[in-house]
Amino acid sequence: MADERLLAAADLLRSHYGRLDLDLYRDGWVGLVRFLLERQFSPSKFAKVWPEIEASWIVAVEEVARGTRGDLLEFLQPYGGNATSVAVLHRLAVWWQEQVDRGQTPFEAGTSHLESAWSELAAHDRTWITRVFCVIGGLQKYPLTRASWRVACRHRWLSWHDESDEIPEFFEQGLRDSPIELGQFAEWMMQVGDDYCGSKPKCTQCPLQPLLGPNGICEPDE
Ligand code: SF4
Repeated sequence: MADERLLAAADLLRSHYGRLDLDLYRDGWVGLVRFLLERQFSPSKFAKVWPEIEASWIVAVEEVARGTRGDLLEFLQPYGGNATSVAVLHRLAVWWQEQVDRGQTPFEAGTSHLESAWSELAAHDRTWITRVFCVIGGLQKYPLTRASWRVACRHRWLSWHDESDEIPEFFEQGLRDSPIELGQFAEWMMQVGDDYCGSKPKCTQCPLQPLLGPNGICEPDE
């Protein structure tokens, strides 16, 4: 059964941020490139650089997979791309091209195939790979991020003393059998973490403020 607290959070976050346009990110390799870069740049920077990137060689997955990580870094660095996102993008391009060469459509294989690809790729960068597989592939794996951890503990849904493995599990179970896409919810939580729930929470302006109980937020030293 879905967790009512998460359903209430989803309602508030949907009203505040609106839905992600998932079709944009599920539009083949170009959608994946867009997803990764959009999350790395500010909205104004992304709007400025995307038309040029979208017209470049990096939207051809076979070229990215055939090239080196250094080629990709050399191309993306002037736009503000960093080594971490470039490594993830290159790793995903190689995987994507392998699927195409086998006659498979990436992210359209069965769940067990996706899960085994995820566990292999996640060894390189668990958070980013999980974000991509969850949002674009629809895999039921929740990305562990500091933002989700902070929100869950500050709202007393979890304890600051819980093991980190328990955090993704809490969201995966809490949203199972609910109409809320796990990837959509995870991206909302990262957004609210960036905008309001950083090291100094801005509860009075935050869309999740109505969900705080009478004792307010729980901080790690409580
Ligand atoms: S800023 Fe406050 S209300 Fe918003 S998510 Fe964090 S603890 Fe909750």
